[in-house]
Amino acid sequence: MNTPFLSVRDLRVHFSTEDGVVKAVDGLSFDLAEGRTLGIVGESGSGKSVTNLAILGLHDRDHTAVDGEILLDGKDLLTATERQLERLRGSTMSMIFQDALASLSPFHTIGKQIGETYRKHTGASRPAARSRAVEMLRRVGIPQPDLRVDDYPHQFSGGMRQRAMIAMALVCDPRLLIADEPTTALDVTVQAQIMDLLKDLQQEFGTAIVFITHDLGVISHVADEVLVMYGGRCVERGTRSEVLRTPQHPYTWGLLGSMPSLDGPVDVPLSPIPGLPPSLLNPPSGCRFHPRCAFVAKVPAGLCVTDSPELRVTAGRGAACHLTAGQRREFFTDYATPQPN
Ligand code: SF4
Repeated sequence: MNTPFLSVRDLRVHFSTEDGVVKAVDGLSFDLAEGRTLGIVGESGSGKSVTNLAILGLHDRDHTAVDGEILLDGKDLLTATERQLERLRGSTMSMIFQDALASLSPFHTIGKQIGETYRKHTGASRPAARSRAVEMLRRVGIPQPDLRVDDYPHQFSGGMRQRAMIAMALVCDPRLLIADEPTTALDVTVQAQIMDLLKDLQQEFGTAIVFITHDLGVISHVADEVLVMYGGRCVERGTRSEVLRTPQHPYTWGLLGSMPSLDGPVDVPLSPIPGLPPSLLNPPSGCRFHPRCAFVAKVPAGLCVTDSPELRVTAGRGAACHLTAGQRREFFTDYATPQPN
């Protein structure tokens, strides 16, 4: 098997707070090959964004302990210096965040911001950087890019700003792109356009993408593989089709039950997962999902409350749950056919 381009092993990200240690990520492992998209899905506070800040080396170093291993093309990012990381950010690895307006400076033109990123990493001249900015704006579908390159961010619509941020993220042909909820603030039509654009650009550039979202509907459009996070841990992983069609974990069932189905009957009520995400300061004992799980009583000897289920992964597929394979098949079939009103 080829060495993965991005390999994360037993990643732990713990924050020191006045109230104690928050275990935001607690033993996460995954691989990602070039040209593939990994979707990381989970509710707020599940650890998905923290994972990616750790990969980028953007965590608060004074209050955060990061352990484990993050290899990017064989280089260990956790032992890299700040200077080395800075060289990698924007060139080999790049990122897009949810809020383009907050990520773009209001004081500089779009073209200058894209061009400066290019100059910083390639040493290109100003005219060459400007041409590159125009070219990137054209590639992400901004009309009249040779004119709009001199606009300021406030002169762009929300969807155009997001495209401009994608142009900035891809200006140095990064091999890894981390997209953190990049379409959440956009309306559904623009969301779909941005996801199509990312797919097209991925084909063109061969970029590996980590796509973070709380929305399984978005995952179904972009991801090749899916990792479901809950309470700082991976609870399920597999290909997109495996996780969406034959999910193995009650939390994934809950996420699916709480999203509208485009091809299902319109009168099927959505059922949000009851309860709240766990405290990562004092996580629940045993399975972290147990206070919200409807299947605790199906597992003998109170195991869900006392023993943390192990994530066993075979050929990239696995789920961390004490239910037997037969029980999962039976319960998911029941769960997947809610009765209309
Ligand atoms: Fe639910 Fe128990 Fe499985 Fe956790 S281990 S998801 S509590 S059945």
